[in-house]
Amino acid sequence: MIYLNRQISPGSTIGIIGGGQLGRFMAIAAKNMGYNVAVLDPTPDSPCGQVSDIEITSPFHDLEGIKRLADVSDVITYEFENIDYEALRWIEKNTYLPQGSQLLLQTQDRKTEKQAITNAGCRVVPYQVVRSQEELTAAIQKIGLPSVLKTCRGGYDGKGQYVLKTIEDQVNAQDLLKSGECVLEKWLPFDKEISVIVTRSSNGETKTFPVAENIHRNNILYQSILPARIQTEVAEEAEQMAIQLANKMDLVGTLAVEMFLTKENEIFINELAPRPHNSGHYSLDLSITSQFEQHVRAVCGLPLGSTALLQTGVMVNLLGQDLNILEENFSLLKDAKLYLYGKKEAKTNRKMGHMTFLTEAIEQTEKKINELFGVN
Ligand code: ADP
Ligand code: MG
Repeated sequence: MIYLNRQISPGSTIGIIGGGQLGRFMAIAAKNMGYNVAVLDPTPDSPCGQVSDIEITSPFHDLEGIKRLADVSDVITYEFENIDYEALRWIEKNTYLPQGSQLLLQTQDRKTEKQAITNAGCRVVPYQVVRSQEELTAAIQKIGLPSVLKTCRGGYDGKGQYVLKTIEDQVNAQDLLKSGECVLEKWLPFDKEISVIVTRSSNGETKTFPVAENIHRNNILYQSILPARIQTEVAEEAEQMAIQLANKMDLVGTLAVEMFLTKENEIFINELAPRPHNSGHYSLDLSITSQFEQHVRAVCGLPLGSTALLQTGVMVNLLGQDLNILEENFSLLKDAKLYLYGKKEAKTNRKMGHMTFLTEAIEQTEKKINELFGVN
């Protein structure tokens, strides 16, 4: 790995590809540190556009838009993962993209992502690549049931996935195959889901955030609990694995590592995201440095900040259907910090915001939230 050792000083302009909530928090962190921010997104007045100095409205694949972003930016980063190959190569060649394109390209596809994880010496759940109905049948024979079929590309928040419980379920899984290559994964009866955010600066410094314990609802992150209620040695191993992945994959910037933990304390890597992550939102309030500030520091070649936890707590996502719970219970904010992302339309399952409860009474808080959200 050749370290870039190029410092982007405050006062410079950071260009962000993607205008969602991750970009918005990156932009706020950058503005706090005295940078200017330009953002490219297909939709005007995006969550990030609302807080940026320059807003470029253009499709992600349109090189003209990307050139306009490059013209005004001293460094480019991204929050959107599905930048197409041509655009990415142009950016890498013609602008300063300290994160490079390799990690993004690898993690855009579940197949190459799993290969990279395995090559880095980490474990993934047993899987088979599936391209046709015949291959699906053969894969079920090998992997067994229950298992889950996932599209290699474009999936998020449980989209592009189908759980197979019986052999007949194959028929319903066909639609996924039509959209391209898939992987069939063994369904892992995990004890917990955990994640680690690791950041590596363009000057080579690496730091992890404490392990989060993640609870999903309908395959969408619901709560993150900090710190994860796991043994210290297991937490250390999880952080070590994230560092190993970062090193082997030549990370610059942020990598979120989602993991499954079994009852026997075995860790399997579920998936990677080469960017700040929903399960790291807690760091805005519970950590000395947030994952977004750390990301800005990393791509600008500044020293990384302390990731120490200041306070234990619970982060809870607010989806479109949850907003009325907040509106009827503003008293919740006595113990919590509120973030709303500035999205215009509150669609079902759309991430509209989150709250972070700063508390030592984790179980009590979990129970209170579950009651309000109607979760058992
Ligand atoms: P994405 O987050 O991109 O939608 P994931 O692969 O992380 O896709 O799947 C979403 C959630 O579905 C996971 O966080 C986990 O709760 C569940 N899940 C996915 N794959 C498995 C598996 N092989 N075994 C058990 N649960 C799984
Ligand atoms: Mg996931």
